Amino acid sequence: MKGIIIGGGIGGLTLGVALHQAGIDATVYEAAPEIKPVGAGIMLGTNAMQVMQALGLEKEIIAAGQPVLNGGIADAKANILQNMPLSALEAHFGIGTQAIHRGRLQAILINALPKGKLVINKKAKSVINGIRPQVTFQDNTTIEADFLIGADGIHSVVRKAVFPQIKERYAGQTCWRGVIKKVLPAEKRAQIKEMWSKEGRFAAIQIAEDLVYWFAVQKTSANGKDNKETLHDDLMKTFGHFDMAKEIILATPKNQIMRNDLSDLEPTKVWHKGNIAFVGDAIHATTPNLGQGGAQAIEDGLALARCFEKFEGLENIFSEYERLRVKKANFIITQSRLFGRIAHWDNSLAISCRNFLLKNMPSKPLIKQYLKLYEVNY
Ligand SMILES: Cc1cc2nc3c(=O)[nH]c(=O)nc-3n(C[C@H](O)[C@H](O)[C@H](O)COP(=O)(O)OP(=O)(O)OC[C@H]3O[C@@H](n4cnc5c(N)ncnc54)[C@H](O)[C@@H]3O)c2cc1C
Repeated sequence: MKGIIIGGGIGGLTLGVALHQAGIDATVYEAAPEIKPVGAGIMLGTNAMQVMQALGLEKEIIAAGQPVLNGGIADAKANILQNMPLSALEAHFGIGTQAIHRGRLQAILINALPKGKLVINKKAKSVINGIRPQVTFQDNTTIEADFLIGADGIHSVVRKAVFPQIKERYAGQTCWRGVIKKVLPAEKRAQIKEMWSKEGRFAAIQIAEDLVYWFAVQKTSANGKDNKETLHDDLMKTFGHFDMAKEIILATPKNQIMRNDLSDLEPTKVWHKGNIAFVGDAIHATTPNLGQGGAQAIEDGLALARCFEKFEGLENIFSEYERLRVKKANFIITQSRLFGRIAHWDNSLAISCRNFLLKNMPSKPLIKQYLKLYEVNY
């Protein structure tokens, strides 16, 4: 059986590696004309790391990234509101959370694919579903295979062809991100503390020995544009009051600061039609508030490959895959959206109540909830 995977992001590459290990022949087609080691950082929660361990890639990721032992929410001066001892999850699952540069993660995944199984500069233009699904690329070449997987991100061309009714939803927040060469003070090196204030959110995370990744989020309308001339000053007005934000944002060259509107997809229960199925943001894009979009795409990759190993016939394979994955991915979309809304409350009384609850929430039920979320058993 031969397959086509459209999109060589985290989801498509993980699936490519997992299918190859399961003995299924699939090729990843990626739109980008070249693979550049650029991008921001990413947190790989213990669920993502359990998958990487199952694929035999965890040692490379640990060597290229930075462990994160503590997480939580803080106020703008970094006073803790809620602590999440990620080390408790590590103790339970035997593998912890890692922060890593996206370019390094991508390189590790590409390296785990057999030669010739990633084809770049192939942007899918249109898709026809059928017994042998077909894709036509922007260069007007057409290929077909036994099955096709849409892994082409939130704006997926494949999804728009198969499920045109699924809507993208702007979350009302915009994010700026960057990576700089820096070593955080020792006590901040193995943690992710997201700071919240009325103006927005900010966090800085060590993602390699000498690299710090930061993100800053503001409630605003969609499709805004940065003025590159005044970008540093503009960001300072909103985020300059957060602990470390001034030195970190101002140290990032303006042309390397990325801006993204945060959006997700309406949750849907059906992830396949005929011989076409989906992984990752293409079918369950979520806001990044729980740091789980990539991890869910990674979980998809292993789950789908295991279904190919265990079941016969594409209809069975895809149905079992949905049974394993849909509920959890949709739960994350809903929770993440809610979390984002609460984080950006701007009423002082509501903020006081929220912060009181965060400070006084017992950690045991929280850890219990997280254990469920981070469990991977495919
Ligand atoms: C600000 C921010 C912070 C985040 N932080 C985290 C985090 O800390 N942890 C976490 O787990 N997740 C995080 N996420 C979410 C995570 O980035 C995504 O969920 C993840 O990248 C999804 O992977 P994917 O492969 O499904 O899609 P994508 O990463 O979008 O990859 C899609 C790929 O398909 C290619 N493509 C697109 N169209 C076509 C086409 N027509 N033909 C061929 N190829 C095509 C693209 O070039 C791309 O390579 C964050 C997201 C944002 C926006």
